[in-house]
Amino acid sequence: MGIVRATLRPDLSFLTKSKILEARPRVGYYYSGENFFSQVSEEIKKIRVKDLKAVPAVVSDKSSVYETIVTLFVLDVGSLFIVSEGGLLEGVVSRKDLLKIALGQGDLHKVPITVVMTRMPNIVTVTPEDSLWHAAQLLVEHEIDSLPVVKPAVYEGREGLEVVGRITKTTITKAFYELGQGLPIMQGGEST
Ligand code: ADP
Repeated sequence: MGIVRATLRPDLSFLTKSKILEARPRVGYYYSGENFFSQVSEEIKKIRVKDLKAVPAVVSDKSSVYETIVTLFVLDVGSLFIVSEGGLLEGVVSRKDLLKIALGQGDLHKVPITVVMTRMPNIVTVTPEDSLWHAAQLLVEHEIDSLPVVKPAVYEGREGLEVVGRITKTTITKAFYELGQGLPIMQGGEST
């Protein structure tokens, strides 16, 4: 083919460094079975929820629908987690849950948020140690926009889940953007 050894060497070294080819004495170079996409997949699955989770956006379970709508605007978020005393997760409420109740006739100051929210144990959650890829999978499979990041907790003898963060579709979009920039994902970053 008219290609000299010196031309091939850097290419082969790139392929062995990226584990696509492996080199063995007396065998030579051989295809490892790894392809570019399996490596990308492996790298993506190393990113943890704790590396990118945003601060939790919560309201008390004593709040009215009106107060919850105000909080949604103040915090500039699309969903809120409802917590009881001690920070235990009780529910989640989305933009559309609030829109739906706002279209009704009732006085929003008098309707408790607990009437509107999706409640435990039907809440899809992740832990700080889960992979961000798993969080993305849950968002897609359950057709939801956000996930509370939780840790087991006990408050006044009651076992529950403490909300320690939030993963949203924005978190996943930011991670995708940072990966595309070729920069390491910000470790322990707290986005909003
Ligand atoms: P929207 O309703 O504004 O499109 P979502 O798609 O996030 O926002 O919510 C759809 C429904 O799923 C809502 O009724 C909401 O209460 C519920 N929901 C949102 N997040 C979760 C979650 N993490 N686990 C369980 N249910 C959820």
